[in-house]
Amino acid sequence: MDAGLNTIWLQAAWRLAAAAGVSLLFWPISGDTAALGLFAALLLIMLLQHLRHLARLSQWLMDPRPEALPDSSGLWENVFAAFYHLLRRQRRSESRLTATLQDFRLAGMAMPDGLVIVDGSNQVEWCNPKAELHFGLDAARDVGQLITYLVRQPQFAEVLDAEGYAEPLTLRSAREGDLILSVLIVPYEANRKLIISRDVTDRERVETMRRDFVANVSHELRTPLTVIGGFLETIADMETPNPELIRRSVPMMSEQAKRMQSLVEDLLVLSRLESAGNPAREEPVNVPDIARALYHDALALSAGRHKVTLLLESAAWVSGAEEELRSAFGNLVSNAIRYTPAGGEVRLSWKADGTNGNEGAVFAVRDTGIGIAAQHVPRLTERFYRVDRGRSRETGGTGLGLAIVKHVVNRHAARLEVTSEPGRGSCFSVAFPGARVIGRSSTEEPAEARSA
Ligand code: ADP
Repeated sequence: MDAGLNTIWLQAAWRLAAAAGVSLLFWPISGDTAALGLFAALLLIMLLQHLRHLARLSQWLMDPRPEALPDSSGLWENVFAAFYHLLRRQRRSESRLTATLQDFRLAGMAMPDGLVIVDGSNQVEWCNPKAELHFGLDAARDVGQLITYLVRQPQFAEVLDAEGYAEPLTLRSAREGDLILSVLIVPYEANRKLIISRDVTDRERVETMRRDFVANVSHELRTPLTVIGGFLETIADMETPNPELIRRSVPMMSEQAKRMQSLVEDLLVLSRLESAGNPAREEPVNVPDIARALYHDALALSAGRHKVTLLLESAAWVSGAEEELRSAFGNLVSNAIRYTPAGGEVRLSWKADGTNGNEGAVFAVRDTGIGIAAQHVPRLTERFYRVDRGRSRETGGTGLGLAIVKHVVNRHAARLEVTSEPGRGSCFSVAFPGARVIGRSSTEEPAEARSA
């Protein structure tokens, strides 16, 4: 028997003894009947007291709040106190459990992956905000709905019903068109399932780019290799060397070898740009000097077929990586010459740029060449993107020039702008922000060089 029970028995025994004692005292004075009557009356009072407390207890149990506990005395004080402590303990563990549950919910809400819990019949029990986004669910509306009704992809339904869930499933989100999801279904606790979704759009895009890139490089190398291999085989098969064939094939083979060399060089430049840290090195670069040198290169490339001009309206330098800028500007100049038929014009310019009050400077190459239709312009800087594959190859293009330009421009926090009109010409300009420009003083008189 524990201490509480002992106390109750002791108190009850003490009260009964007190009532019996008082009645016994009255026995000699008022006789046995009156004494027994008194004892019965005292017992009745005790019984009524117990009944009153019992009624209060049962009333209180209807809404057992610790603060509403009825006042009590005697035996019942212990009982009520025990109830009070029991209730407090229960409240404390309840709030501990609620806090733990809340913690789990908050952790689930904060997860960077989508989480959906479904029951044995695939009805949604709970989902976090990422899952709402991935599957277009609504946590408030869709609880209790069949997940297969909400995510209507046959593959998903199949995997959900299958036994083995080990491999994640790649799904294209039906509601968020461009979203690619990796979905893993994990069974747990009897027949409930946890559906974990992860946005793998970027990973898939990079993977597609990598595959396309390898396919493009192989494709670019195949033609020159086939030409060279074909000639070499023919020569090897000849019983007596044919000097005429050799005389004709050697220049062709060397042209193809040059093509492969340019491709490999451009690929190396691209890979260096990609692996170099960002932003580009910051050293003062004399852009007017680069423009002058490129002007002379343009004259040599044109070989008198175009009118080439250079307009230097600014003496400003920029802070950046000289080799990168030289290679990017060189690509623009060589494109302008290559895509402008004989008799056309190519103009190189370096000017201050006051647009949007940014105090920057712009290097531009304008030509009166074949121009580019508007739908191609946004894709020009993609690797190997060419408007006219044949023309690009004929003129020794690798299809990587503008991809290199784009990289260099980005690394210098500059902006590449292209305006073009088919049949009338194009203008490619690289606009540097004020923060990259050093010494903004413009030359007194614009220096202009030209060649007809
Ligand atoms: P490519 O080696 O083929 O010239 P680029 O990356 O330098 O590769 O250019 C991509 C494509 O953009 C070219 O194939 C060509 O179709 C187009 N292009 C670039 N510059 C010009 C220009 N100045 N005029 C017309 N088309 C151009």
